[in-house]
Amino acid sequence: MNYWDRNIETIGREELAALQLQRLKETVARALNSPYYRKVLGDNNLSPDSIRSLDDLRRFPFTAKDDLRASYPRALLAVDREEVVRMHASSGTTGQSTVVYHNLQDLENWTGLVARCLVMAGATRGDVFQNMMSYGLFTGGIGLHYGAERVGMMVIPIGGGNTHRQIQFFQDFGTTIIHITPSYALHVSDVIRDLGLSPDDFRLRVLIFGAEPYSEATREKLEQLYRVRALNCYGLSEMNGPGVAFECGMNEGMHVWEDSYIVEVIDPESGDLLPPGDEGEIVFTTLTREAMPLIRYRSRDLARLYERTDCSCGRNFRRLSRIIGRTDDMLIVRGVNVFPSQIEHELMRIPEVGTNYQILLDRVENLDRMTVRVEITGRTFHGEVGELRLLKKKIEHALKEEILITTEIELMEPGALPPSQGKAKRVIDNREM
Ligand SMILES: [Zn+2]
Repeated sequence: MNYWDRNIETIGREELAALQLQRLKETVARALNSPYYRKVLGDNNLSPDSIRSLDDLRRFPFTAKDDLRASYPRALLAVDREEVVRMHASSGTTGQSTVVYHNLQDLENWTGLVARCLVMAGATRGDVFQNMMSYGLFTGGIGLHYGAERVGMMVIPIGGGNTHRQIQFFQDFGTTIIHITPSYALHVSDVIRDLGLSPDDFRLRVLIFGAEPYSEATREKLEQLYRVRALNCYGLSEMNGPGVAFECGMNEGMHVWEDSYIVEVIDPESGDLLPPGDEGEIVFTTLTREAMPLIRYRSRDLARLYERTDCSCGRNFRRLSRIIGRTDDMLIVRGVNVFPSQIEHELMRIPEVGTNYQILLDRVENLDRMTVRVEITGRTFHGEVGELRLLKKKIEHALKEEILITTEIELMEPGALPPSQGKAKRVIDNREM
């Protein structure tokens, strides 16, 4: 078994709890240096002395995305501005953007966490790491970059898009590990095939997926298409970015680096803490961040924690299931809650289905209508009309079983839908709100 930092990665639960308690007190003390927490914690009479055990964290209020927006640009900064060496910001497509600040120590810690993830994925010195995630204010690209260098890999900071060049680089530089969104990986596999190439023409051995929720069926499909292992990387910019949790390869969830984050799962409606095994919204508290500590941050990502803490990989950090969806992604169609990932899961299990799809919502005579446009394989598309009709029925039936709603299915030729070059836009909602 490979470890980046064996001592911390194999720490026992008791020792870990003691470390968390000490770091939580330090975090609260640091948070009080920011105008936001000085007010919020002050109003609630909370200080480092309020924490005698880890359970005392529950007395602290949640921090929400809206609190970050309202704190724009600097109300959550807990150190002098001169100490900050980097900031990241969310895209801000829905209102005010949110900012996260880092000092040198924060970046050092983040780099270390990412290095742990990569070594856990089997990365070693000498690997060639093609980082196909966007660079910039978005943390996906830069987040893995420094950890990969720290491990000693040769990093190709190519970013997303420019697919032909990506594939050329696979060949020219012998890329062994790529970091990519699952939707873009599906598109790249189409282009590889169109160029008359196959995975045997490359030296790829690991795919690292991040930045988008996706289904287990998509992972299986991608593992078949590329004939390599695919591992999930989880993170969110408010918790630095990628590297918060990562799969160890035992296929039983992603280990959360609990020496750096306390993880809780809550009922998104009531805010009540849920027991391990129950699905809910994940909440994180930073334990080592200096420039911008966050206490009980509501991620809006939905998942569950595994009940067992031990794992055959030797790590005792709690494991998180794959992300089922985001509370913001949830669609309400005819009163029924639907996650796009449920639709994706069903589609990707059907062999005739290609690599791209789109969900359209509109309202006809006051009734929601959902149309799913599905690219199918070229062979099927140019096959017999009778077969196409059957396929349409099959997809309609599979979706109805899963989401309990009848959908219109439109079968499309490969390449008919706009391809993903990074984060995919799968849902087009034309309903008037
Ligand atoms: Zn493990």
